[in-house]
Amino acid sequence: MATRYYTFSRFIPPQPAADNPAGNLSTMIGEVISIGDELTSGQRLDTNSQWLSTRLTELGVRVRYHTTVADDLGANVQVFRAAADRADVVVATGGLGPTADDLTREALADVSGQELELHEDVLEFIRGLFARFSREMPERNRVQALFPRGSRVIPNPNGTAPGIDITIPRADGGTSRIFALPGVPAEMFPMFDNYIAPAIGPAAGVHGVIRHRRIKCFGAGESHIEQMLPDIIRRGRDPAVGITVSEATITLRITAHGKDEAECLQSMEPTVATIYQCLGYLAYGEEEDEIEDVVSRLLTERNLTLATVEWGTAGLVSERLCNAPGGRQRHAGGFVISNAAEAERLLGVPARLAEGAGAVSGELVEALARAARERTGADLALAVSALPVVARSGTDSPKVFIGLATGEGVTVRSAPCFGDPSI
Ligand code: AMP
Ligand code: MG
Repeated sequence: MATRYYTFSRFIPPQPAADNPAGNLSTMIGEVISIGDELTSGQRLDTNSQWLSTRLTELGVRVRYHTTVADDLGANVQVFRAAADRADVVVATGGLGPTADDLTREALADVSGQELELHEDVLEFIRGLFARFSREMPERNRVQALFPRGSRVIPNPNGTAPGIDITIPRADGGTSRIFALPGVPAEMFPMFDNYIAPAIGPAAGVHGVIRHRRIKCFGAGESHIEQMLPDIIRRGRDPAVGITVSEATITLRITAHGKDEAECLQSMEPTVATIYQCLGYLAYGEEEDEIEDVVSRLLTERNLTLATVEWGTAGLVSERLCNAPGGRQRHAGGFVISNAAEAERLLGVPARLAEGAGAVSGELVEALARAARERTGADLALAVSALPVVARSGTDSPKVFIGLATGEGVTVRSAPCFGDPSI
């Protein structure tokens, strides 16, 4: 039997991909609104939006908008109006305090066209909170017991600001359900979990859940990676594939809708297989994996140790390896070098070799890697030379050189080096 949820009337069906028969599930559209001058002026980071979006997504809501707005009544009214028109479920935080800059209740009264009315029971609850600390309730706190007519009170066990749950009609005949919560994270979290999640979860869940999987890539730029893949990054595909970059790591984020988690994971499989097939070794890991985690795992699997020589990276490579799980046991010591004399003193690599090359050459990293392997007795030694561009004036194409010494010899690679050596 078909179930209808009138409160959430506008579902936008994503286009199913040819390789995903489950992609025809429709989704509840969500919007998260953060309210406060401290957010729009940059004084405070909006962490509520991230938290709420993660939760809403888990429940199966497709969050399509994040809006941040200052403590300004006109701007708040506009933002709530727009959100009601384009989202089935809206969760707002902030602006529910007792002071003159807390305007959320007035904005919601305006948008819904309803008067604010006093809820005696809420007023008693707020009075009681003050009484617990032997204090009299300041008159200003009375406004926190005002609610637009027809709205519902979201209990706040941890503070004086209850939330507001209100359903707003919209021009297309449907409705949007708006939940307004206080901005204080410790008050907001349990209110979401105890009230909003149970209120929307079943309705959202009928239309499936959303799950993500991240594949991490290294060794090519994002446009290059996109070119290597078939047309899977196009908008509207389900599973959807997005690309994000952080330092030199490219993340492919796959998002699937399905009736449950198992269906989501299954529907992602063909897309995941395509990515691995097209990218080969460039796709080095998944989820939280950093490149050093994978290096550490491979070294452990093969019971190998690695020594490092670094020139221009201030020990970054050894630091990252040692901080990866199991990495410290794999690291056989290292050398951090900043000039030719040190290369000669610590590793016996002739200073003239380093001086001649301006510290950046294949010959140099080859000699450094070989020397480090001999001196430490490690199975492998990795030498990296990456000097900042300014230190290499006269070199027309900046490069980083990498040498890996093994029992069989030394492999040398070079790569263009733009920007900071840490990247
Ligand atoms: P309000 O409910 O607007 O009185 O906000 C109370 C406090 O909660 C603010 O002073 C902030 O410290 C915090 N807060 C409000 N909104 C957010 C947000 N979006 N992210 C993180 N903290 C917030
Ligand atoms: Mg505020």
